[in-house]
Amino acid sequence: MLRLFLLVKIRSVFLGLTFQILMAEKRELWLSILERVKPTIQKMHFLTWFQNTSLISVKDGKAVVGVPTSFALSWISSKYTLKILQALQEQDDSVKEVSYEVCSGLGEKGNKDGADVKGLFKINEGKKVRKVRNVNEVTVRRGVSRGHVSSQMLNDKYVLDSFVVGKDNRLPHAAAQAVSDNPGGIYNPLYIYGGTGLGKTHIVQAIGNQILKNDPDTIIKYITAERFVSEVVEAIGKRHMPKFKDQYRNVDVFLVDDVQFFARKDSSQQEFFHTFNELYDANKQIVLTSDRAPSELDDLDTRLTGRFGMGMVVELLFPDFETRLAILQQKCQEFEVIFDPEVLNFIANNVHHSVRELEGVLRQAVAESQLSDRVPTIRSVAEIIKRLNKAQKIVGFDIEEARGSVRAKNSSEVMQIVAEYYNITIADIMGPDRHKEIMTPRQICMYLIKNELGESYERIGLGFGGRNHTTVMHACNKTAKKLRTDIKLVRDVNAIKREMGL
Ligand code: ADP
Ligand code: MG
Repeated sequence: MLRLFLLVKIRSVFLGLTFQILMAEKRELWLSILERVKPTIQKMHFLTWFQNTSLISVKDGKAVVGVPTSFALSWISSKYTLKILQALQEQDDSVKEVSYEVCSGLGEKGNKDGADVKGLFKINEGKKVRKVRNVNEVTVRRGVSRGHVSSQMLNDKYVLDSFVVGKDNRLPHAAAQAVSDNPGGIYNPLYIYGGTGLGKTHIVQAIGNQILKNDPDTIIKYITAERFVSEVVEAIGKRHMPKFKDQYRNVDVFLVDDVQFFARKDSSQQEFFHTFNELYDANKQIVLTSDRAPSELDDLDTRLTGRFGMGMVVELLFPDFETRLAILQQKCQEFEVIFDPEVLNFIANNVHHSVRELEGVLRQAVAESQLSDRVPTIRSVAEIIKRLNKAQKIVGFDIEEARGSVRAKNSSEVMQIVAEYYNITIADIMGPDRHKEIMTPRQICMYLIKNELGESYERIGLGFGGRNHTTVMHACNKTAKKLRTDIKLVRDVNAIKREMGL
């Protein structure tokens, strides 16, 4: 009897222990997933949405994530599923699907099952930025074993994962990945060139970030050639040259952006030549970027340009239409906004110079739409493109013609267009019916009259059969809010605005 009791007891202790180990494994796995998605999401959003989440199970290719509220569920599932899935697949490629479950216990006080995501930022907070004489801002990690400057001005928003790969930039991306995985290997130096705004700084900094992630003790120096030149000049002036040289002696990875800035016979070029050779001979990884190929660097000593071409030389080209579209979609995710796909298509079609310009148009459209609470339309982005680049020929939309053709000038014209769009009558829109098929168009109507015609809530209320101004305000706010998450609504409002000639 006693033996049986002991056996049962041991078994249950054993099962309990196994259970605890499994729980700990899942927690570890979930934390590593969160680490992975963290750099791709704005800090505030990350802290808001992932606090107290957990990984409930991973079975038969399906992962189930626990979230504390249904609100978090709809937000995370609509915005971050792809990122979570990709991060999971990196750990376990059998995972094909992610679903979510609301576990209200997760948010409760004292419950320790959910992740404490604030902790994920603690390591970074251990970093402090301090001024060092004669050296510009440097990031110093507390407790670095070798006690050295680890990186200079790496922006952690530049990561390889957020660099969209298409057929024209596959090679530079693959080379960057290979260098990050094996610094000082066969691709040394790595020389990346291409026109401005095509992603050179993004890639070179992403290499630094990735290497630092793989091994936080690596000493990385990122500098633009322009800065290098001014540091040399300053060091000479202040007779700090030995100290300046010292800075580079212990560097493991040397990232130099825009080397076309080195000028002929300049003493800074000589200094760079020595630094380059010393690091290269010591098998340290060097990555250089430039706006032209090594052979076209006319102002540089041929001994130097010859060495630039010794490792791997790759060119970044302006991406094709599909990649431009994918970049716009990626940036929408980063900015956490949704755009009508037609509007994104239009931008991708009408930007012909650089990714920076592509991003600039999108940024401007986001800012305008947030300030004025208006959905970006083809017309509004066409105006932005024209404003940013007057010489640009716009394809697929005639601004001049559109300017003279605003169709909806008063509220009854707006009602008419909305009613036609939804196939209902003006009487329906004005009437008391509270069914969704009627309510939504009515609210959109109020929203458009307020935001496009600028009428007051009171006047709109009167125009809608004497409704109270607070009802109108509620309708407008609700529509504006839904426009941030509901892609179908964004499309509908866009189509209606097009009908209105906006
Ligand atoms: P460069 O240094 O070549 O002038 P940047 O690296 O500063 O260009 O790139 C300009 C902007 O375009 C940056 O915000 C960068 O993140 C973005 N960008 C460029 N190429 C891509 C890409 N393939 N995917 C995502 N973003 C990109
Ligand atoms: Mg650059």
